[in-house]
Amino acid sequence: MKKIALLGSTGSIGKSTMDIVARHPDQFKVTALAAGRNLEILSQQIKLFKPSLVSVHQQEDAQKLRQQFPAMPAEIVYGDEGVVAVACHPDADLVISAIVGAAGLRPTLAALKEGKNVALANKESLVIAGKIMTDEVRRHDKVILPIDSEHNAIFQVLRGNERDALKRILLTASGGPFFKRSLDELRGISVEEALKHPNWDMGAKITIDSATMMNKGLEVIEATWLFGVGADQIDVHIHPQSIVHSMVEFIDGSILAQLGVPDMRCAISYAMAYPQRIESGVESLNLFEVESLNFYKPDLKKFRCLYLAMEAVRVGASMPAVLNAANEIAVAAFLEKKIGFLDIAVVVEEAMLAHPIKDLITLDDVLEVDGWARRQAQDIIQKRGHS
Ligand code: MG
Repeated sequence: MKKIALLGSTGSIGKSTMDIVARHPDQFKVTALAAGRNLEILSQQIKLFKPSLVSVHQQEDAQKLRQQFPAMPAEIVYGDEGVVAVACHPDADLVISAIVGAAGLRPTLAALKEGKNVALANKESLVIAGKIMTDEVRRHDKVILPIDSEHNAIFQVLRGNERDALKRILLTASGGPFFKRSLDELRGISVEEALKHPNWDMGAKITIDSATMMNKGLEVIEATWLFGVGADQIDVHIHPQSIVHSMVEFIDGSILAQLGVPDMRCAISYAMAYPQRIESGVESLNLFEVESLNFYKPDLKKFRCLYLAMEAVRVGASMPAVLNAANEIAVAAFLEKKIGFLDIAVVVEEAMLAHPIKDLITLDDVLEVDGWARRQAQDIIQKRGHS
């Protein structure tokens, strides 16, 4: 029986994880859960899975839950410390890190420091603290199990192959809802339009990142850390059908791909059951219905965020952390309709230009740069509002 600590249980990845646990009650037990403010879904999960530790974002929510479940033996904690307690739960064999954004860093790193097996959906933590996290993974002789569908595909394809034989990664991207629109057409995109992803059903932040292609930029950075490759070994391919989840080319010219219908349960179940495979509930791919698989080169003028992410990898050190933090603030401002769609890249770029590069050695270094970039992005947004 694998015991699971799940960070971000009420989000899209969290719910899919619970679905797989429910399909295999003999193989998995949810021992600890951390959620944000969605108490309705969290309550259902507590009833169904009976974890022994639950963490919520705020103290008042912890009190509400306690009143709701007076007889429940679970301990209820809250705040940053609460999430870390879930991540480091002594019984957990596998920690699934599915909190969105830089907020996932502290608990994920805490789990790695404890020598836990970590399945990672929280790409931002690797983007901002890749060196610190991978050093910790190496120290404990572990591997990070990627849940991001592209990285999970690459991880699957690399299995059984020598790393030295890897020539390049062909990272696929859906291109989001706007890849066929002109730059001019992107100017007036509304929040509602940007939130409609053609293939994947995901949370708001990642859906906007997908529309700007910042998501792919973050994934390029994530891949450099997960697979020890340079950004020059990663070629982004827009593949609107989202059937090929990514590919690897080896030195002999062979390209291996992982394919499937776009359903996150495939990647999540692979990470959960690794090194085995289990039934995931994902339906079979019908290639006769798909008919054709298409690939396009991304237009970096149109998708400025992808270009900026490539630049951030090239510069390295603290720049990816600045890119990520400024993007989180800019996306939130776009969702609140304070800035336009194309302004997201402008805010990120201005924050990057204003940033004095530094090495990130400790978690505090990362959090300091993260905080700086957030304030910087807020200032930029405010000034734009007044101009
Ligand atoms: Mg992905």
